[in-house]
Amino acid sequence: MSNLHPDKGMRGGRCNVTACQQPGAWHFNKSTRAYYCENCAREINWPGGRADCMELYGVPMLCELDCSDLYRRQIAECDDELMHKVWDGTPWMIDAYTGGMARGDERYQEIVEWCRDQFGPEAWPIHGKPGDWHCGGATVHGWTWLGFATKEMMDKFAAAWPVPDEVVKL
Ligand SMILES: [Zn+2]
Repeated sequence: MSNLHPDKGMRGGRCNVTACQQPGAWHFNKSTRAYYCENCAREINWPGGRADCMELYGVPMLCELDCSDLYRRQIAECDDELMHKVWDGTPWMIDAYTGGMARGDERYQEIVEWCRDQFGPEAWPIHGKPGDWHCGGATVHGWTWLGFATKEMMDKFAAAWPVPDEVVKL
């Protein structure tokens, strides 16, 4: 028997392919219901299998990334352990318009309170405090990273807090 990591096939854990088991398994496989690394996901998504997958699941790719675009761009491929520690539990991240230039802004406070109301206490991953949402420590020109545990939560947030019309994203 080969060595199996305890987090093999788990979300954000090790790749489910026994011979691989690389960290960073963020691609969910609809058939095996396990997670895979990017390279293995690419092989599983080979072009020849896409017609079958379309027939079975209504989408061409058997393995799909289980996090937001922002997470994929900024965190999934990054080697910074601290960044992973902060965001891996809430990989449905968006760049939210929190207003003003500082954390003291009214919209910022309202957003934080709304999230607490909806999703419970904020996660504080660095201090080992669990939770389903997390607000980034930096606000840049009124934009702050907000992460959620699920896509549904992220979509709910985006619907409740649309970017105001007068705000032009830089
Ligand atoms: Zn792999």
